[in-house]
Amino acid sequence: MPARQAAPCLRCGDMIDINVAAIVADIRLRVVGFEDAVRSAQRSVSFCVTCAELIAKGDAPPERTQPLNFIVYEGAREIISGDPSFSLLSWLQLRKECGLSVPTMIEPKVLKAWTEFRKAVALPATLERSEGEFVPPEKRLAS
Ligand SMILES: [Zn+2]
Repeated sequence: MPARQAAPCLRCGDMIDINVAAIVADIRLRVVGFEDAVRSAQRSVSFCVTCAELIAKGDAPPERTQPLNFIVYEGAREIISGDPSFSLLSWLQLRKECGLSVPTMIEPKVLKAWTEFRKAVALPATLERSEGEFVPPEKRLAS
């Protein structure tokens, strides 16, 4: 079974194939405070790389009135600030939409260069957290 199924981007509605990079939010509810904790089935929503990047770089939704949007915003910022691949993929998508040539990333020479670049800018783990709050990369280095 694949890690995910093709699904529309929650923000723009474009279909995201299973072989395309995306961010998926898995959501499951559970009951607390009862002896027999009931859990809902897990549901997933997907964001294409362009929308994920726009979410991460956009304004923070108001946490009090849009708590789920705020959680997605924080998660997208964590992931995208930790890996330049999303910005590259978003740039490639923009070139494609503009009808410009799109360099293929699977050419061994390009793939090797990109892998070396990612190693050179290796950042702390993106899931590093302090009491459940997002720690921006610049603050991780200070601690
Ligand atoms: Zn989208």
